Amino acid sequence: MRKYVIIGSGAAGLAAAETIRGHDNNASIQIFTNDPYGYYSRPGLAYYLCGELPEEGLYPQPDNWYRNLNLSILKEQAVRINPAEHTLHLAGGRVAPYDRLLISVGATATRPEMPGADLEGAVKLDNMDDAKQILKLARRAKAAVVVGGGITALELVEGLAALGVRTHYFLRGDRYWSSVLDETESIIVEERMKEDGVVIHYNTRVSEILKNGNKLAGVKMANGEVIECQILGFAIGIRPRKELAQAAGLSVGRGVLVNERLQTSHPDIFAAGDVAQVIDSEHPDGLLESLWSPAILHGQVAGQNMVGRTTPLCRPMAVNVTRLAGLITTIIGQVGENEEKVKSDRDLNSIMRGDSEEWREVPNAVVAETQGGINRLRLYIGERSIAGALIMGDQSLSRPLQNLIERGIDIRRYRPQLIQQNAPLAALVEEIWRALPVRRNQVNFENYATKIA
Ligand SMILES: Cc1cc2nc3c(=O)[nH]c(=O)nc-3n(C[C@H](O)[C@H](O)[C@H](O)COP(=O)(O)OP(=O)(O)OC[C@H]3O[C@@H](n4cnc5c(N)ncnc54)[C@H](O)[C@@H]3O)c2cc1C
Repeated sequence: MRKYVIIGSGAAGLAAAETIRGHDNNASIQIFTNDPYGYYSRPGLAYYLCGELPEEGLYPQPDNWYRNLNLSILKEQAVRINPAEHTLHLAGGRVAPYDRLLISVGATATRPEMPGADLEGAVKLDNMDDAKQILKLARRAKAAVVVGGGITALELVEGLAALGVRTHYFLRGDRYWSSVLDETESIIVEERMKEDGVVIHYNTRVSEILKNGNKLAGVKMANGEVIECQILGFAIGIRPRKELAQAAGLSVGRGVLVNERLQTSHPDIFAAGDVAQVIDSEHPDGLLESLWSPAILHGQVAGQNMVGRTTPLCRPMAVNVTRLAGLITTIIGQVGENEEKVKSDRDLNSIMRGDSEEWREVPNAVVAETQGGINRLRLYIGERSIAGALIMGDQSLSRPLQNLIERGIDIRRYRPQLIQQNAPLAALVEEIWRALPVRRNQVNFENYATKIA
């Protein structure tokens, strides 16, 4: 009987466990986690915070799913891997031997390195405990400050505002999420936040965290202005939890380095999900994906390889369906902003939650966009195919575009029309889609659909 040990009860770990079980009914599969809540949807935490989703709605699998697969999640923290002896050491002193090990410990939100960042009231949104802590604090808080530039920052802002807390949002630059959104899109999102009573402070940073005993009392801004607040939310980036792997002597870069089979520098140890720095032909130096669907795909591919079925990772385009200030937004492939701007904006040095490094890449392409209104369509049009798209508001073209982009459909016939100023982009995309001899409605990766339910 083969022994498989998985560290981490997230999307990647559970997808690997399910895959392994699909190939080996008799194997011993142990999943160790330090999260008391086991496996739940992290993207769903934002909806839980706003009160739109009850806690039960965060669990993707019913209890009998675990029973049917003979899987159990053991609530023990992994503290050391001994690759030579093939053992995993747990916090309570237990030692778990393995034939194959998967490291799927995810990434953690970074805290700013400044005095007071660990005070009661200074929060991040990484896991269920964080969400519960925010809900508890919000019951008595009058005001909150949120710092950061990506999806999680906005989720914190929206959650706190929905909980009735007067919310100030600090942006380091002059607009929201400038690595991914263009100026018009940023403005649409900012205006909607303001309509919800959020006060946005541009080109602003926290220069000092003020305290009263061990509690947060407020923040001082770089211009000397003080805002009294009882909650300070950070969403300034994430860092793969690579320490276990590093201490075990495995090769690490920004994350745990893996080959195309998700195997680390030790042949019996694999890594998947937010912790893994994956490679493919377009990214030979590796890429951090940091998204839910890729974490599941990594887990499945790692699982296949762990049972001995050689399976390379074939990454589909990075896709995220998310909600920005109430507007459903789908981001596909490469939609990055001007390279110089990205480099010069320090907010963008670290990857945000629900973000992918792929979006920071600037394709050699022409940008075409629709004008006016909150329904927006922006396309990155390459010489031969569409390289990326951002669809905000009306989502009827989301699936066709995922398909056209992922399959690299030849658009040369339509290109002159597409790149014309004020081109009827939506109608043209629909025309390209309808002209395809075979239209595939299914893309080969799971969409995070429950977020927009
Ligand atoms: C608030 C929020 C919003 C998000 N929004 C989106 C979104 O809109 N779209 C999207 O695609 N993605 C989003 N994401 C990101 C997405 O959730 C992650 O990419 C995905 O969960 C990664 O899965 P994973 O299995 O790699 O890691 P995780 O889900 O982080 O799981 C890792 C597990 O390992 C455990 N662990 C860590 N260290 C140890 C240890 N030493 N011993 C034992 N266990 C350990 C952790 O407790 C955790 O259970 C969001 C994430 C958050 C937190």
